[in-house]
Amino acid sequence: MNNNTQPKVIVANWKMHTTSTEAIQLAQGVVTGFREEHGVSVILCPPFPYLTAVSDVLRGSPIALGAQNMYPEKEGAFTGEVSPTMLLDVGCKYVILGHSERRHKLGEADSFINQKVLLALACGLDVILCVGETLAQRKAKQTEALIDSQLSLGLASVPADALSRVSIAYEPVWAIGNADHHATPQQAEDAHAMLRTRYEQIFGKPAAEAVSIQYGGSVVPDNAAAFLSRPGVDGALIGGGSLKADEFLAIVQAAVTVTKSEMQTA
Ligand code: PEP
Repeated sequence: MNNNTQPKVIVANWKMHTTSTEAIQLAQGVVTGFREEHGVSVILCPPFPYLTAVSDVLRGSPIALGAQNMYPEKEGAFTGEVSPTMLLDVGCKYVILGHSERRHKLGEADSFINQKVLLALACGLDVILCVGETLAQRKAKQTEALIDSQLSLGLASVPADALSRVSIAYEPVWAIGNADHHATPQQAEDAHAMLRTRYEQIFGKPAAEAVSIQYGGSVVPDNAAAFLSRPGVDGALIGGGSLKADEFLAIVQAAVTVTKSEMQTA
C-alpha cells in the first residue's frame, strides 16, 4: 500500500478489442517501449483468442500475461468456456475476475465469482478481483455495504497462504469508460481506505497492509499520476487507455515517476 515495499501494478484490460494483428502490434509496442523499472509491474490482458500470440511477444520480457475471465472448472462439457488450466497452459500468470461488465452485462453473481477465485488460486493463477458500485448505489450511499459484500463474498474461503496472490481493483461502475465522469483521486483514495479497512477485518492487518489495490475507471495519461500518487492506490487497471501503446506507456511512466518520488520522500 504505497509503502514502497511493493510495486505499483498497471494492468491493461483490452476487453473485446483488437484484431490478432493489432494485438500483436500493441503488445510489441508495449514491450519495446517499456523500460523495466524497480517498483512497477505491468500486466497485459488481451482477449482469449490472442493470448497465445501475445504470450509469444511477451516471452523474455518483464511484462506478464493475464486473462480477462475464466470458467470455474478445470475441464469438461462447458461449451464456449475457458478453464484456468488452459490459461496457465498459454502462459497466463493472472486472471481478472468479477469485472463489472461481467457482473452487470452477463449477470455474474458473487457466489459464481467466488468459485472462480478459489479455483484460479488453487490452479496457480494470481487473481485480480474487481469490485465497485453503480452510480445508483453511490447516490443511495450503499457504496460501503456493496464493496463490503463483494469483497467478503468474492473472497470467501480463500486460504491465508493464497492471499499474497490476490489483488483488488476498485472500479466504480459509473467511472468505467466514461472520461467525462471519472472518479476524483480523493474518491478513489477514500474507497481504497474503506476497502483496506474491510480487508483487515476479514483477513487481518498484515494481509491488509500487503494487498495491492488498483484503481480503475477512465485512467488516462493526463490523470494517471493524480490517482497513483494517492495513499493506498497501488496501481491502476486501464481499459480504453491501454489500447494504444504510447498512451499506455505514458500511464506506466506516470507510475514510474510517482514511485521514484515516493522513494525519495520515504
Ligand atoms: C476497465 O476496463 O476496467 C476500465 C477501467 O476501463 P476504462 O479505463 O476504459 O474506464
